[in-house]
Amino acid sequence: MTEETQEWISQDRTHCWHPFTDQAAWTDEAHEPLVLVRGEGIYLWDSEGRKYIDGNSSIWTNIHGHNHPKLNAALSEQLGRVAHTSYLGYANPLASELAERLCSYFPSKTLERVFFSDDGSTALEVALRMAIQFRQQQGEPDRCRFLVFTNGYHGDTLGAASIGGVSRFFERFRQFGFPVTIVSSLEEVLGLSQEEVVEIAAVVIEPLIQGVNEMRPWPEGMLNQLRDWCDQMGVHLILDEVMTGFGRTGTMFACQQEEVVGDFLCLAKGLTGGYLPMAATLTTDEIYQSFLGAEKAFYYGHSYTANQLGCAVALANLRIFSEEETLVQLVDTASAFAKEMNSLLGPGVKEVRICGMIAGVELEPSEEKGARGRAVCATARELGLLTRPILDTLVVMPPLCIEVREIEEVSSILRRAIEKVIAD
Ligand SMILES: *Cc1c(COP(=O)(O)O)cnc(C)c1O
Repeated sequence: MTEETQEWISQDRTHCWHPFTDQAAWTDEAHEPLVLVRGEGIYLWDSEGRKYIDGNSSIWTNIHGHNHPKLNAALSEQLGRVAHTSYLGYANPLASELAERLCSYFPSKTLERVFFSDDGSTALEVALRMAIQFRQQQGEPDRCRFLVFTNGYHGDTLGAASIGGVSRFFERFRQFGFPVTIVSSLEEVLGLSQEEVVEIAAVVIEPLIQGVNEMRPWPEGMLNQLRDWCDQMGVHLILDEVMTGFGRTGTMFACQQEEVVGDFLCLAKGLTGGYLPMAATLTTDEIYQSFLGAEKAFYYGHSYTANQLGCAVALANLRIFSEEETLVQLVDTASAFAKEMNSLLGPGVKEVRICGMIAGVELEPSEEKGARGRAVCATARELGLLTRPILDTLVVMPPLCIEVREIEEVSSILRRAIEKVIAD
């Protein structure tokens, strides 16, 4: 190992604290952290010159690949003007364009307003607060609960965490957040009594597929039926497309597959193509109108709201979708992806779940839950593929620009890794 790498690892072990990480295991001498230094397309390189496929798009963010010439150019060009200006009291050209562009993906008179923030968690935080404040302004202050799904994941700020259903992450802080009613299926939603329904401001869902819940797709048609129920009951629908947005499920947004539009739409991860942290919460004119007036303003925002570099690269990301017909290309890519991922079914694999360019490959569990998943991903890393399991489910979610022969390489590495781990 080079001296430089050793130095970085030692600084990390001494001073850094990683997210969702048992730091005891991380800093253990037996664990060699990868120090990633470079990327190109679907590939990443570590500080020792080893090359890897980015099998989970750098935690679900990257869309068109790393070091993309068009995204880089958009950023350099904007850097020559200005990196950041405050959105509090000032507009900026790129945020104006981006807001219009985002709304243009939806039928007119549906989602017409965009509130920018920094990441998926804040995109949800914004939607939740708007939903509550809207009810207060409509004279329904008691309508302050959120209807949420078991094992849902919506981010980590206290508000977003309180609507999360993954108990190992959120139980500790549950009592500090928003009041929630937790259900596990559409049937349970339909079965709620009128007394329960009138306390609910909004229902929050990850459309088509729950990500952190080991990549579990919802039954087909469920989103559409949920929308109908919301309309009948006067409940708002908050769609969390932080993971599913920007082509990941095969369409630009997952909700389009069931021709559903939410009252709120939360976007982040892929918005900038995986380049910079940035988020957007889209909502309707009806909701927006209720916030007009000094005493009704939405008192919320962050220092880097509508960051100009973020907006520039988000616009470039969206331009690539149209210039390179990403979604058209994706039809063939996604069918090769489904074929290759399904081919992993066999000894050691319990189930393969697929939605567009997202796959969850669930392994037969060993005695310790999650141990198999970790072992297979550690072996895959040695074979040149990076991804992170959720318990015993391998997450495969490469950048959309992956080519068919590269998908074959991914499945070949995973097959070898699974074989090796179950043989041990
Ligand atoms: C990642 C994720 C979030 C949180 O986004 P951050 O950018 O990590 O705050 C919210 N919802 C879903 C569905 C996600 O996958």
